[in-house]
Amino acid sequence: MEAPDVLLIGSGIMSSTLAVMLKRLDPWLRLQVIEVAPSLASEASDGWNNAGTGHAGVCEISYTPHRDASGRVPVARALRIFEQFEHSKQFWGGLAVAGVIGDPTDFIHPVPHLCFVQGQENVDFLRARHEAMTAHHFFRGMNLTTDRVAIEHTTPLVMEGRAPGPVAATEGAGTEVNYGLLARRLCAWLADQDGCSVATGWKVERLRRRNGRWQVRLRHVASREVREQSTGFVFVGAGGGSLRLLQSTGLPEVAGLAGFPIGGQWLVCDDPAICSRHTAKVYGATPPSAPSLGAGHLDVRWLDGQKRLLFGPYASWTTRFLKHSGSWLDLPRSLRLHNLPSMLHTAVRNWSLVQYLISQGLQTMEQRLEALRAYYPQARLEDWRLVHAGIRVQTLKRSDRGEVSFGTEVFSPADRSLAVLLGASPGASVSVNIALDVIRSCRPEMLSTSAGQDRMRQMIPTFDQDLTRDDNATLFARTSREAEERLHLTTASCCSV
Ligand SMILES: Cc1cc2nc3c(=O)[nH]c(=O)nc-3n(C[C@H](O)[C@H](O)[C@H](O)COP(=O)(O)OP(=O)(O)OC[C@H]3O[C@@H](n4cnc5c(N)ncnc54)[C@H](O)[C@@H]3O)c2cc1C
Repeated sequence: MEAPDVLLIGSGIMSSTLAVMLKRLDPWLRLQVIEVAPSLASEASDGWNNAGTGHAGVCEISYTPHRDASGRVPVARALRIFEQFEHSKQFWGGLAVAGVIGDPTDFIHPVPHLCFVQGQENVDFLRARHEAMTAHHFFRGMNLTTDRVAIEHTTPLVMEGRAPGPVAATEGAGTEVNYGLLARRLCAWLADQDGCSVATGWKVERLRRRNGRWQVRLRHVASREVREQSTGFVFVGAGGGSLRLLQSTGLPEVAGLAGFPIGGQWLVCDDPAICSRHTAKVYGATPPSAPSLGAGHLDVRWLDGQKRLLFGPYASWTTRFLKHSGSWLDLPRSLRLHNLPSMLHTAVRNWSLVQYLISQGLQTMEQRLEALRAYYPQARLEDWRLVHAGIRVQTLKRSDRGEVSFGTEVFSPADRSLAVLLGASPGASVSVNIALDVIRSCRPEMLSTSAGQDRMRQMIPTFDQDLTRDDNATLFARTSREAEERLHLTTASCCSV
C-alpha cells in the first residue's frame, strides 16, 4: 500500500487490537499491518505461547504481594488490572455483536480463577487478601474456603493425595482466552476493510524519520526484495522484535535501553480422562526462591479444538527475541555500549533472579514434575509432555537503576509520531487498554470531539469512567453483565467440552 496513514508492525494481539480500534474510530483511515512470519499472530499471542489467562487480578497473588504496615493487603494494582480487563470484555463484546470477530465462544471461555495456598502463614495471608478484595464491588463475589472437602469438590486434582495441613482457596469468576485466534479474527476483519491491508512474510528492518514522516524499510522474507514505505504514524507491536526496531530509529531516548529474553516452557497433558477432571485456572503463592514471573499455575485450556491442561510456565534460557522469526544472535546484536551498563546493573541487583533463571534452565523432567506436584500431587510423568511457550523480552532501562519491573509500557518520542510497546506482563489481557492509551497519547484529536468520544463509547462504554469508584458500582454491574452476555460468559458451555 502506498503511504498508509498508520503502519502497524506485527500481527499479534496488540497491533490487531489497535488497528481495529483506529479503523472503527475513523473509517477513512488507511492502515497497513506488516507481519514477518508466514502466518498471523504466531508469536507470544498464539494460544500455545501464553497461558491464556484473562488477567483480572482475581487469582494472581503477584498483583497483591505484601501486607502494608497496618497488616492490610493493598489491592490497588488488582483493581486497576480488573478494570482494564473490563475494557477488554466490553470491546470484544461489542465486536462480537457487530460481527467483527465471529463466535466469541471460539476464543473465550468462562473458567473459575482459583488461588490455592497451603501452610498457616499463606492461609492467613489469603484470608487478609480476601477481606481486602471483597470490600470492593469488583471482587464481592469472590469466595474463600479452608475446607479441604469443598476445595476438592471444585478442583479434585489439586487435593487428591495432598498431605494434611492447613489449606485455603479463593474462587472468583474468570476467563480463559485464546489471544492468537482473536488476533487472527481481528486481522481478517481489517483485511476486508477499504483502505486496509495485512501483509505477511515481510520483515520491517529499519525505521527512519525524514521530512516529518517515517520511512520504513521492508524486506520480503522469501524473495529478499526490499521496499520503502512512508507513513505518518508507526505502531511497533512487534513483541520481541520491538527493541531492535526502536534501536534502528536512532532516537536519543533509546540510549540505555536493553532487552533480556526469557523463554517459557509448559508441561502439557492431553489425556481426556485427566483433563475432564479439571476446569479451573489455579494460581498460588510465589515460592520465595522465584520472582513473580516464575509462579507456575495449573490451567485448563482449549487449544486446537481440544481441552488440555497446561502447567507452567517454567523459565528457559534463550538468546532469541522471537520464537519463530528470531535468531540466536538477537541478544548479542541488541547490545550497544550505551545499554551494557543497564544489563550489568540489573544482573548485579537481581542476583536471585539470575540464579533462578540458571536453575530453571538446568531443571530435569523430575524436577519439573516436583513443581507440578505442588498443584497436582498425584501427577505422573508419563501423562505430561514438555513444549516451548513464547519468549518475553524484559526491558531494562537506565532510569530503573537495575530494578526489574515485569510490566508493559508504551514508549513514544516527544512528537508522538511513533508508539512502541515494550515489556512483558500482564500483556494480552490489557491490549484494549494499551490501544486506548496509544490513541489518547499519540492521536488525541480522535477523541477530542463528541463524535469521536461517542464512537469510542460504542466500543468501550466506560472508557472515560472510573469504575473503581463506589458510586459507579451500579454502572459496573450493568456494563459487566452486558459484556458477559455478549461474550456468552454467563453460560457454562465450556465445561462440557
Ligand atoms: C509464557 C507466556 C505466558 C503468558 N501468559 C499470558 C496470559 O496468561 N495472559 C496474558 O494476558 N498475557 C500473557 N502473556 C503475555 C502476552 O502473550 C503478550 O503480552 C502478548 O501476546 C503480546 O502481544 P504482541 O502483539 O505485542 O506480541 P506478539 O504476539 O509477539 O506479536 C508480535 C508480532 O510481530 C511480528 N514481528 C516481530 N518483528 C517483526 C518485524 N521486524 N517485522 C514484521 N513483523 C515483526 C512477530 O512475528 C509477531 O507476529 C504471556 C506471555 C508469555 C511469553
